[in-house]
Order: sequence, then structure tokens, then C-alpha cells
Amino acid sequence: MRPFFLETARDANEALRLGACGGEVDAHVDAHVRAPAQYLAGGTNLLDLMKLDVARPERLVNINGLRQDYGSIEAEEGELRLGALVHMSTAADHPIIRQDYRVLSDALWMAASPQLRNMASLAGNVLQRTRCNYFRDTSWGACNKRKPGSGCAAIDGVNRRLAVLGVSEHCIANYPGDFAIALVALGARVDVLGTDGASRSIALEDLHRLPGDTPHIETNLAPGELITGFRIPTGPWTRRSLYLKIRDRASYDFALASAAVALDLAPDATVRTVRIGIGGLVAKPWRSLDAEAVLKGRVLDETSASEAAEAAFASAVVHSETGCKPELGRRTLIRALLEAGRMEM
Ligand SMILES: Cc1cc2nc3c(=O)[nH]c(=O)nc-3n(C[C@H](O)[C@H](O)[C@H](O)COP(=O)(O)OP(=O)(O)OC[C@H]3O[C@@H](n4cnc5c(N)ncnc54)[C@H](O)[C@@H]3O)c2cc1C
Ligand code: SF4
Repeated sequence: MRPFFLETARDANEALRLGACGGEVDAHVDAHVRAPAQYLAGGTNLLDLMKLDVARPERLVNINGLRQDYGSIEAEEGELRLGALVHMSTAADHPIIRQDYRVLSDALWMAASPQLRNMASLAGNVLQRTRCNYFRDTSWGACNKRKPGSGCAAIDGVNRRLAVLGVSEHCIANYPGDFAIALVALGARVDVLGTDGASRSIALEDLHRLPGDTPHIETNLAPGELITGFRIPTGPWTRRSLYLKIRDRASYDFALASAAVALDLAPDATVRTVRIGIGGLVAKPWRSLDAEAVLKGRVLDETSASEAAEAAFASAVVHSETGCKPELGRRTLIRALLEAGRMEM
């Protein structure tokens, strides 16, 4: 690992000041993740990447001292607020989240291992980076995400675990997290503080970027911006919700395909509201408005669920080892919809 400075912030102002230092940021090339100063939450993704020499920050700003301000869960009228520094395990097991936002609890419980969930924060989870092997192994020269303009070894290589929705000819990496798929389905917003102290709120679906021809720019965060929390609007659909994750092994593993579903059904099973997130095989947390539009106003059954799944994967692009993934994704979504429809309320 390369040498780096480690500093601990006592409050948000100090974190932002430290997050803004650490050398020049090239506005045309460097995104949030390539800024010279990086926030350190659980460190379970960032330190991993530093040990592999993929991430090379000059300065780490430990933000765990900000847990007092950004480490709580508050359920208010019309909104659930989750602090950025809440541990994954705390949110997964929170009684209100388990009862009223099952899709969030499911997604967190199915992510990583107990040790990781006890250490890792919600914001760190949402900002985790792809598991594409060519990205994580610096002995591969061609990776546009790691080295802009170098090419993409995965396109003609081992790509079974990579994405089919949102990919480009420059990068087919998948977004690996589970929690953000549930957040995007529920229409969550992200609260952010800029280095000038100004706060802003962005929709979760605008936090990450599609690869396009700049796969190295992964988020719409500016260097030094600090995520302080997430806000999730409440509705009758959050109770009838679940996360279905298909993976190679049940103990702990990243998703090959996943679906986050939240439903409000009339007594005759007509869909009043549906929210759908898709994971595992997507370039960024993916909300399927096309699938939602197919279902709205229809009775939820195998036919309507299948048509919704067709719509969700209509734009899928496959490569050498991902030919089976649109079908895997379709079946995952159909099963999630039908299971959510059968939930006892
Ligand atoms: C073996 C293994 C298996 C795993 N399996 C899964 C899985 O199945 N599903 C899944 O979802 N995840 C999985 N993970 C990933 C794991 O959940 C993440 O590593 C973890 O959630 C990251 O959180 P953290 O707090 O440790 O982030 P860190 O490593 O501290 O930070 C990650 C990134 O976020 C930035 N950051 C952190 N907090 C903030 C903030 N408040 N504002 C701005 N930037 C911030 C950091 O600067 C860094 O760039 C796995 C990891 C491992 C090692
Ligand atoms: S898929 Fe993306 S991350 Fe993986 S090698 Fe290609 S450019 Fe790099």
C-alpha cells in the first residue's frame, strides 16, 4: 500500500475542510472517487481497494466521529430518515424498518457477512465500487474505469458477473451493492454537504452515473462532498415490499440478479402503485419505470408480471458470458412480484 495521511474529523465542518485538502483535482478527469482526499467510514471497500493499489488517495478523513450527527434512524410522518453513518446491521435489524420497509431490511441482511455489516456504513455501502476483476487487478492494462482510454478487458474476457442493463461499449461493469437497489425502488433521496457547507438533496437515481464514454466518473458527487443521510418517502407500498437476491452461494455473495419490489394493491389485486429496482446485472442502481408502467392498473398475476419483466429487460445488451442474464433477471423479477403480491398484510 502507498503511504497516506490519516486524519480524524470531530464534526462535519472539520470533515469538509479536511475533505477539500490534499492536492489538485482535475475537474475534467477526477470524479469523487479519484479525489486526493477520501472519507473513511467502515473502510471495508476503500481499504480493500487501497491494498490492491486500485484506489490511491493521499489523505483519508476518518468520519466515524460524526456518528452523533449522522448515525441515527428516525421514522417521521411521511418519511424515514437514515443517517449516512448508521451501520448496515443496525438498519437491517431496526424494528420499524423490519416491519414497515421490509425491502430495505432484506437488502441489508442479504448483503455481505455479519462482520462486514457490523463495520460498514450505509453511505459507504451505496458508494462501493464494482467487483469487475479487471478493475480490481492492476496487472491488467486495459480498464477504462481504472485507466481512462486504456480499453476494456472484460468485454472479450470473463464477464459472467457483469452487467446487461446500462452498459456501454467502454465498460460493462456491474454495480454490486444491494441496499441502493432497494433505495432506488423506493424513490429515496440523498442528503449531501458540499465543501462550502451548502447542503443539497439529490434523487438516489441521480447519484450514480452510467458509464457512457467516461466510466471512470462514477457518481455526480463533487470531490469532497459528504453524504449525510438518506430520506425515504413513506407510502402504503413500503409495507408490501421485498428484496429477492439470486447468487451463486447462499452464505454470502454478490447478486447475479436481484429485484426490489414495493406494491400497493387493491383488494382484487389491482396494482395501485408499484416500485421496482433491479440489481446484480446493472451498471448503476436501476429503477425500471418501464416495468412499473406495464403493471399500473392491472391485476397482478403471472401474465402481467411476465410482461413487466419483458419491458424491464427490453434494452439488455449481452456479451460472451452474459447471454443468460436477461432471462435470469426476468425470472427474478417475476418471482419477486408474485411473492410480494402474496404477502400477508
Ligand atoms: C467479502 C465481501 C463481500 C461483500 N458482499 C456484499 C454484498 O453481498 N452486498 C453488498 O451490498 N455489499 C457487499 N460487500 C461490500 C460491503 O458491503 C461494502 O464494502 C461496505 O458496505 C462499504 O461500507 P464502508 O462504510 O466500509 O465504506 P468505506 O470503505 O469506508 O467507503 C467506501 C467509499 O465511500 C466513501 N464514503 C463513505 N462514507 C461516505 C460519506 N458519508 N460521504 C461521502 N463518501 C463516503 C469513501 O470515501 C469510499 O470512497 C462485500 C464486501 C466484502 C469485502
Ligand atoms: S468492465 Fe469496466 S471496470 Fe471492468 S475492465 Fe471493462 S472498463 Fe474496467
